Amino acid sequence: MEKNVRVRFAPSPTGPLHVGGVRTALYNYLFAKKHNGTFILRIEDTDAGRLVPHAETYILESLAWMGITPDEGIVEGGPYGPYRQSERKDRYMRYAMQLVESGHAYYAFDTPGELEDMRERLKEARVITPQYNAITRTSMKNSLTLPAEEVKERIESGIPYVIRLKVPRKEEIRLNDMIRGWVMVHSSTLDDKILVKSDGMPTYHLANIVDDHLMEITHVIRGEEWLPSAPTHVLLYKYFGWEESMPKFAHLPLLLKPDGNGKLSKRDSQKHGFPIFPIEWQGQDGEHLIGFREEGYLPEAMTNFLAFLGWNPGTEQELFTEQELIESFSLERINKAGVKFDINKAQWFNQQYIKAKPDDELAEFLFFYLEKAGIAASQEKVARVCNQLKERVTLIPDLWQQGCYFFVAPEQYDQNIVNKRWTVEATNVLSAYAQALQQRTESLSAAEASDTLHQVLEAQGVKIGRVMQAVRLVITGVGNGPDLMEIIAIIGKEETISRIHNALKQLENQVKI
Ligand code: GLU
Repeated sequence: MEKNVRVRFAPSPTGPLHVGGVRTALYNYLFAKKHNGTFILRIEDTDAGRLVPHAETYILESLAWMGITPDEGIVEGGPYGPYRQSERKDRYMRYAMQLVESGHAYYAFDTPGELEDMRERLKEARVITPQYNAITRTSMKNSLTLPAEEVKERIESGIPYVIRLKVPRKEEIRLNDMIRGWVMVHSSTLDDKILVKSDGMPTYHLANIVDDHLMEITHVIRGEEWLPSAPTHVLLYKYFGWEESMPKFAHLPLLLKPDGNGKLSKRDSQKHGFPIFPIEWQGQDGEHLIGFREEGYLPEAMTNFLAFLGWNPGTEQELFTEQELIESFSLERINKAGVKFDINKAQWFNQQYIKAKPDDELAEFLFFYLEKAGIAASQEKVARVCNQLKERVTLIPDLWQQGCYFFVAPEQYDQNIVNKRWTVEATNVLSAYAQALQQRTESLSAAEASDTLHQVLEAQGVKIGRVMQAVRLVITGVGNGPDLMEIIAIIGKEETISRIHNALKQLENQVKI
C-alpha cells in the first residue's frame, strides 16, 4: 500500500522569503492536498549566525496571506514536533554519533588556519575546487589519521572539533528525481560535508535528513539550488540504513530574470520596479522591500500565477481556482528548464481575479483608501464604484487612483481636453444640463441621466460626440473612465450639478470659440 503523502516546506529564517520560496511552499501544499496528504512547515534555524529577526514571522505571515496553511507546523503543532529545529537540538548529536560508530563519519580537529593552508596547497597544485575529501583527509588532523588515544584526549579536554561525513572515494551515487529523471554523481566530486559544527549544532545536511526521516516525509519538493546537495543526502540515508524509506525527490526549476539571463534576484526587483517578495519586508538595517500584497495583488491571483511558474496543466486553461489547481497538479508536469519571471503575466492574472471578484469584497479594499483619506461612504456606494471600475484596473490601488472622483469633486481638469473640448457649445449644453437635472430626483438612474442629457442635446441641436468629453471632464477631471451616466447615477444629482457649476466657473476664461 502507498504511504500517506507527507511533504514539508522547510525554510531557514535568514531573511524575507522570496517568491521562489513561496512557489516551493505552494507546490508542496498543492501536492499534499491532491493526495489527501499532510503539509508540514518546518523551520530550519540551526545556523544561528545567519538568523534574521522577524524572518520567521515574515514566513508565517506570507504563507497566511497566500492561504497556504500547514497541517502540522510551529503554530499548528502535530505529532512529529517540535517543528523548529532549534528545539530538536538534542536529537541530532545522537544520529551523528551513530555514523561515527558505524565508520561513516569522523571527528576533525583542523583549525581554520590549517584548512586554509590545505586549500592553498591544493590551489598551487592546480586543483580547481579544493575539497576535504577521501584524498585530502589523509593528511589532515582527524580521527582517521590521529591515534585513537589522542582523539579521545582531545575530545575530553574540550578541543573544538567537527564531525564530517566520510564520503567514499569511488562510488557512483544515483538518484531518481521526479522532475529530472536519473541524476548520477561520482563521489569523488563531493566533499566530506560537516554534519556537526564545533558549537555542537548540526548543519543543514544532518538536521534535514534526520528530520525528514523522523517526520516520515515521503516527497522532498524543493528548489533546484538543492540538487547538488542531494547526493550527500542519498549517502546519509544509506549510512543511516534508511534507504527503504528515503523520500522521493523533486527539484523545482529555477526562477530566472525577465530576460532569462541568470537567477531572479532582489536586484532585478529594484531595477525593474516590480516586487519579488510576497509581503512588505522591513529589515533591521533600514532595508524596506515592497511586497506583492502592498502593490495590490490578490493572493488568489498570486496562487494562480505562481502555480504556472514551472508547471502547466497541459491544456489551454490558465485560470484555475485553488480547488482546480489541487485536482490538476502533478509533479510530472513540472518542467526542468528555468522559468523567466514575467511580471506582465502576474498583472494579467491579477486583472482577471479583480474582474471576477464580488463587488462587496472589492469594496473592502477601497474602504481602506477612503478611510486613509478621511472619506465616509456607504457600503452600497463603494460596491457600485467597484462594479464600475473592476473591468479597468490591474492592481488594487488603481481602484482608488482611478476612482477617487466618485468621492471627491475634481479640483483640476486635464488641460489637453480643456484645450480641445471646452467650447461654447459644450458650456451651453452643460448649463442647460445642470438646469434640466434639477427636475430629477436625487438618486437618478443612469438611464434618466442619459435621457436628460439627450433632451438637452436635442433642444440645442448638438451631436453628442461634440460635447461628451467636456461633460466627462467636468464630472471626473479626466478624459476617460467607466460609463459616464453610471458615474452620474452614483454621485447623484446634487453633486453632478455642483460639479458642472464649479467647472463652468473655474474654466470660464478658457472657453474656445
Ligand atoms: N532550509 C532549506 C532552505 O532554506 C531547506 C531545503 C530543503 O527543502 O531541503 O531552503
